[in-house]
Amino acid sequence: MSGEPRTASAAAKVRFREAQIEMAHGAGGKASRRLVEGLFAPLLFGASPEPLGDAASLRIGGARMAITTDSFVVKPLVFPGGSIGELAINGTVNDLAVSGARPEAMVVTFILEAGLRTDVLQAEIRAMGNAARAAGVRIVGGDTKVVEHGKADSMYITTTGLGAPLPEVEIDPRSVRPGDKVLLSGPIGDHGITILLARGELDMEGDLRSDTRSVFPLVNAVVQAAGTGVRWMRDPTRGGVATSLNELARDCGLGVVLFEDNIPVHDAVRGACELLGLDPLHIANEGQFLAVVAPELAEAALETLQKVPGGDEARIIGEIREQPACSVLVTTLYGGSRIVDMLVGDPLPRIC
Ligand code: MG
Repeated sequence: MSGEPRTASAAAKVRFREAQIEMAHGAGGKASRRLVEGLFAPLLFGASPEPLGDAASLRIGGARMAITTDSFVVKPLVFPGGSIGELAINGTVNDLAVSGARPEAMVVTFILEAGLRTDVLQAEIRAMGNAARAAGVRIVGGDTKVVEHGKADSMYITTTGLGAPLPEVEIDPRSVRPGDKVLLSGPIGDHGITILLARGELDMEGDLRSDTRSVFPLVNAVVQAAGTGVRWMRDPTRGGVATSLNELARDCGLGVVLFEDNIPVHDAVRGACELLGLDPLHIANEGQFLAVVAPELAEAALETLQKVPGGDEARIIGEIREQPACSVLVTTLYGGSRIVDMLVGDPLPRIC
């Protein structure tokens, strides 16, 4: 449920009226938000005034910690640039990182289908071990369940992560102010379109790889450069950059204005999106993050980010303004502009 923020007022209004669960409820866009705010939150969290972020912040026995959980159902299991096991580690690592926490420990749960080949499972366990070591996170426990053949699609993985909050930063969408700058760590849409191409659903060849990676080194560089000037961060996974920034706009009550020409998009992603009538701003990423940084620190944060390996394509892609309140406006060099909403429906199911 992490990643679907709400405001207290929004939570009070939303009612979940659908008679059954549909694919769109798992897409991370509008339907997911209705499910979380209208069904899960009222019954599990009560009336919390806190916006929900990528990880929850807790104080236990005097110690602060961040906790998050995520399930992975990606199809196919292996794709250019990564696989389900690797994604299961990095996805949870990244939710901790963009919450301003250093990923420390993780427990993992496997739901396996009877008949799954051991070599396939072993490859994913190995991928998880490698990703965890690369991210500096310890795997400290787990659970395995097996269901009958045909009842699960080879395997599903759930990871739950604990992190230590970085003392330099406090992530809260309510601290965002007009004039703040929006940073993006690199090109968007690579993961979602890679999965689509790997399924062979598009008659298109693309030299594209998933961007899956730990973003913690990049996040940490921005935090060290800008400290409390970093107001908000998010990894734009399902629903893409547009959904993440719409959630921010709702939570802070301000407008997010994007400069489209500054947003890095690989040609293969742009081409696939044009074919499918999709907006790259709605396509999932697994190795990027957005940061809103105070204007006087934004350039320094960007320069620092660009010097970290994998951060060279980072850009300032927009800024916060009073208007259009609670919305995301995309502008172009030629003077065009359009409002971009959260993702509606589920054009690319089971991408993570
Ligand atoms: Mg997230």
